[in-house]
Amino acid sequence: MPGNPRVLVAGGGIGGLAAALALLRRGCDVEVYEQAAELKEVGAGLQLAANGTRALYALGIGEELKALSCEAESKEIRIWNSGERWKLHDLGKVSVERYGYPYLTVYRPDLLGLLERAVRREKPDAIRLGARCVAFHQTETQVTLSLEGEASVSGDALVGADGVHSRIRQGLFGPDKPEFTGVVAWRGIVPMNALPPHMVRMVGTNWVGPGGHVVHYPLRGGKVMNFVGALERSDWQVESWSARGTNEELASDFAGWHDDVQALIRNIPVPYKWALMVRPPMERWTVGRVTLLGDACHSMVPFLAQGANMAIEDGFILARALTESDADLPTRLVSYEKARLERTRRAVEGSAANIQRFHNRALADPVKAREYVDREWAGAPIAERYEWLFRYDVSTAELD
Ligand SMILES: Cc1cc2nc3c(=O)[nH]c(=O)nc-3n(C[C@H](O)[C@H](O)[C@H](O)COP(=O)(O)OP(=O)(O)OC[C@H]3O[C@@H](n4cnc5c(N)ncnc54)[C@H](O)[C@@H]3O)c2cc1C
Repeated sequence: MPGNPRVLVAGGGIGGLAAALALLRRGCDVEVYEQAAELKEVGAGLQLAANGTRALYALGIGEELKALSCEAESKEIRIWNSGERWKLHDLGKVSVERYGYPYLTVYRPDLLGLLERAVRREKPDAIRLGARCVAFHQTETQVTLSLEGEASVSGDALVGADGVHSRIRQGLFGPDKPEFTGVVAWRGIVPMNALPPHMVRMVGTNWVGPGGHVVHYPLRGGKVMNFVGALERSDWQVESWSARGTNEELASDFAGWHDDVQALIRNIPVPYKWALMVRPPMERWTVGRVTLLGDACHSMVPFLAQGANMAIEDGFILARALTESDADLPTRLVSYEKARLERTRRAVEGSAANIQRFHNRALADPVKAREYVDREWAGAPIAERYEWLFRYDVSTAELD
């Protein structure tokens, strides 16, 4: 393996493309194999905190990202029925002052398109579409990836960035055992001009209630509002980005919630639903020349808004581990894994802990609800839950 390795990446989602960009910028040869015939993301929003935007700036696409995102001024907590509000974080200028980088909300297809353009600028033919990875085989010196209906390809390393149902993970460690959380997440995109004027604000909002919560924030320069509504119910257990529901079913899940929540629900053109699963954190991701990143190895419920941020961080650290050491390739992959295991485990657990926090039964009673929010969202608990996330710097984080 003269110089930097040739890396095969299975999966061209946010994690796979961020990794490809980081690897190409450090002089690796990279090929991404994506099963879809075209690169497209679901029409949904994504929150990128300072840890994620810091990585994207380090990859040279920060300003382009900022131009197509929204920079929310703040994030607030509201009580599900009364609508009473508290400030959770100052964002906007404060995120930049405190962490050096903005907190952005972005439409997922816009981020994927940006990553795709940046990868193609480094290597025009780096992304192979319509290429479904079905199996792999490794020897002491190389790894071979089999693609459905095509000749197989070989490289020095294989990275499974193929999402929550990862074939590569199954090839390494066998089938996983996801556990249903008892929570269904609804999502949709609301045209901003359909909402009452008082809701047209550049602010992220987290409504908390007994057994459910709702998050909404602006996207695309404030033209649309992203909606996610999570509710405890056990009759739907499909883990999919594309399962449709109806506005009636969504409205009945959130019956009794504040008028502002109802206004969002009424104006979602197509609501989608996703059953949230958890998987216990994995103890290792790497075998020989094959490793994993993103949802393939640490999927999490979306209640810290960090899954994609973590996948982006993974890609950057992987590229550093592969290019900053003279060790043999499997050792470099283990150094990547070691640098990432503990942080991602903490994110998986922190996200799951927010189910109970956001859906607490104390929120059913107006007096207890106020005390509960005062306690849970006071300065010190917030700092403990978020500072370690936002301050992480992919460029200086320690590698073995
Ligand atoms: C409702 C909801 C809201 C969320 N909000 C946030 C948020 O605000 N902030 C945040 O950071 N995260 C958020 N997340 C989490 C985030 O969406 C994921 O963590 C992120 O998409 C993971 O990226 P990935 O690249 O690892 O996987 P994916 O995005 O799943 O990409 C995997 C890619 O691999 C491809 N693939 C799969 N199998 C194969 C195969 N066999 N061969 C070739 N290609 C294959 C797929 O087509 C896909 O393109 C949210 C998640 C949900 C469900």
